[in-house]
Amino acid sequence: MLLDSHIHIFDKKMDRDDFYIKLKEGNVDGGVVISLAPGALKWNEKEYTTKDRLNNVLWFCEKNPMLFPFYWINPMESNAMDQVKEAVACGIKGFKIICNTHFPGDQTAIKVYQEIARYEKPILFHSGILWDGLNSSDYNKPSQFEALLNVNGLKFALAHVSWPWYDECIAVYGKFLNAFAWRKDLSVEMFLDIAPGTPPLYRQEVLRKLYCIGYDVQNNVLFGTDSNVNDYNLKWLKDWLNRDQVIFSEIQLSQESKDCLYSKNLLRFVGLSGHKPTKKLLVTGEES
Ligand SMILES: [Zn+2]
Repeated sequence: MLLDSHIHIFDKKMDRDDFYIKLKEGNVDGGVVISLAPGALKWNEKEYTTKDRLNNVLWFCEKNPMLFPFYWINPMESNAMDQVKEAVACGIKGFKIICNTHFPGDQTAIKVYQEIARYEKPILFHSGILWDGLNSSDYNKPSQFEALLNVNGLKFALAHVSWPWYDECIAVYGKFLNAFAWRKDLSVEMFLDIAPGTPPLYRQEVLRKLYCIGYDVQNNVLFGTDSNVNDYNLKWLKDWLNRDQVIFSEIQLSQESKDCLYSKNLLRFVGLSGHKPTKKLLVTGEES
């Protein structure tokens, strides 16, 4: 099974049939479809209400049960808590957040993540350099996401392995594994979304470091393309799959790790798998 954990919707031509045909041609069984952006991102030509954005993403996913609608929320909006409630009530499977005006650990935002965790929904965060024409990348540095240690019960993913800060991103993942050793009550869980992000030149280095560092990552890596429903890019998909395949044979990645990457981990992320992997914790002094 192949699931794409990172598919956007832009306010361009919305042709659901064309999107479904392309998924089929690419042998993609489903994945995460992220709603139109909230206003703060200034990505949209028009203005959309919460309802518009929810209805639109639900419509894109409704004919394929393996497409998981994610609602893109700006946790700094004054009615963010109501938006969470509304989104969950109408069947949203998870949330997307880009921190473009706030740090991940902002107290207002943390309350929204806690509410999302209470509903047992995951959050896919952008992380790494942010191409928005503004001074915003500092908000997306991986170490800023340590603040999520305060959101127990949350499953969250950092997209793009935080390119260009992938070393820091992998270290933060290690930090979360180590935190489990310190704090028995801790249940927040970090995932890494390998959607490019990483330009091809860096891909081998990123995947080799991620999979060979010795941390227990097998059950927490997601495959995504960062493509979109408006013109799902099959060449892009194929190029990344082929490129990764070569790297995976070089590092002799196991079939189980690949199965986890391409489908099982995302199913667990969105709450559709009963699989509860036992984590190999990172104990201080043994590895660092
Ligand atoms: Zn994206």
